[in-house]
Amino acid sequence: MDTGKVSRIVKIGDPDADILYKEGREVTEFGKSIIDFAKDLIATMRAARGIGIAAQQVGRSERALVIDVSKGVDKSTTCKSDNKIVRIRNISPIIMFNAKVENHSKETRVGIEGCLSVPGQEGEVERYISVEISYQDENGKSHRLACNGLLSICSQHEIDHNNGIVYTKKAIKVSRKV
Ligand SMILES: [Zn+2]
Repeated sequence: MDTGKVSRIVKIGDPDADILYKEGREVTEFGKSIIDFAKDLIATMRAARGIGIAAQQVGRSERALVIDVSKGVDKSTTCKSDNKIVRIRNISPIIMFNAKVENHSKETRVGIEGCLSVPGQEGEVERYISVEISYQDENGKSHRLACNGLLSICSQHEIDHNNGIVYTKKAIKVSRKV
């Protein structure tokens, strides 16, 4: 996959920050332009040293997100992709369109999160321990991803962005990052 273009990240308080609070629209057409968009999201996430980014964070309305937690988890950490156990590093970066949490654990956990759109801050957010997500890839093919740990938390955070929710709205406490 060749590299995409680095986009400007929309931050809370920016004149165009409205997009961060709007529910994303479903992607129904797949092809070159959506693949190029996914590449741009990956390039932008990497340039910002993030582990995930959603379309709304670059000023776009699509239900699109990319995730790469491979550097934040152990090399052998696995998840279930289309019912097969795979190493997260082998399927990263993960590109998801129209991602939706289909099932989740009853148990939740409070953890610290940050966001590229909320620089200099971090917050305590309650998330499901494990989730099962349905999504479409850049070719429109449907997939299921079952995960826990960092991938589960990051997926819930990015899917929230697609739904117009910034983590600060859910956070128990937000404070300046030290
Ligand atoms: Zn975020």
